[in-house]
Amino acid sequence: MDKKVALITGASRGIGKETACTLAREGIFVVINYNGSQQKALDVLESIKKNGGEGAIYPCNVADYSQTEEMIKNLIKEYGHIDILVNNAGITRDNLIMKMSEEDFDKVIEINLKGCFNTIRHLSRQMIRQRSGKIINVSSVSGVLGNAGQANYAASKAGIIGLTKTMARELASRGICVNAVAPGFIKTEMTEVLPDSIREGVTGQIPLKRFGETKDIAEMIAFLASDKADYITGQVIHVDGGMAM
Ligand code: NAP
Repeated sequence: MDKKVALITGASRGIGKETACTLAREGIFVVINYNGSQQKALDVLESIKKNGGEGAIYPCNVADYSQTEEMIKNLIKEYGHIDILVNNAGITRDNLIMKMSEEDFDKVIEINLKGCFNTIRHLSRQMIRQRSGKIINVSSVSGVLGNAGQANYAASKAGIIGLTKTMARELASRGICVNAVAPGFIKTEMTEVLPDSIREGVTGQIPLKRFGETKDIAEMIAFLASDKADYITGQVIHVDGGMAM
């Protein structure tokens, strides 16, 4: 594979989908990972191909250590290298702590945080061999500020920040940059379910007074994945309309 290869987890919808389309437009071969939404992943690939881009889809539950290992092994076998990893897959299971089930706490940590560990654990050896690589982890404003009703989610996203800084320190000497993007409230299926009262309350806390678009996040990820960001590592970039400052 002559082109750069990017693996984007959770790219069947929302921010991951937009990121895949943006990277493909920049001439990168994109691997669209998904868990359940095969048709949506195929639709993303079709639209990328229509616009002259290239890519493939790959189903894998990133919370599963062995499945993730298998995915990375197969991709390296097929394409020879993976240059960019975007850890984007994520879920919410919101509730106040008094009502939050152990299952909902564990599930969010397993997908959002352990999913990042799994992909980095299995891909870092290859990136070290390549002596280059860009890893971008998708955190959240909730992981930076905390958010009532999101103990599991905020803990997973704060964990991603610790993981990012540690990976940046471990991998810097091998030419690998590791950064996090912390989106604020972005218009996707994840935030579509918010009741109007919550939506109004949240909008009031955003200095720019509106939710962000998926392209706002995808453009920042594409920048961090590019050569323009070769001297940036261990950072958390806030793309949140000014919520965290
Ligand atoms: P979304 O529209 O709900 O999409 C989530 C994506 O994650 C889907 O492609 C889904 O794939 C995938 N996914 C879920 N579980 C997975 C698993 N176990 N293995 C692999 N893929 C899995 O979410 P989004 O709003 O675009 O959010 C994307 C990321 O941004 C998440 O990490 C989220 O926490 C973060 N974020 C979002 C916002 C926001 O306001 N939207 C704010 C801050 C941070 P399937 O369709 O196959 O299930």
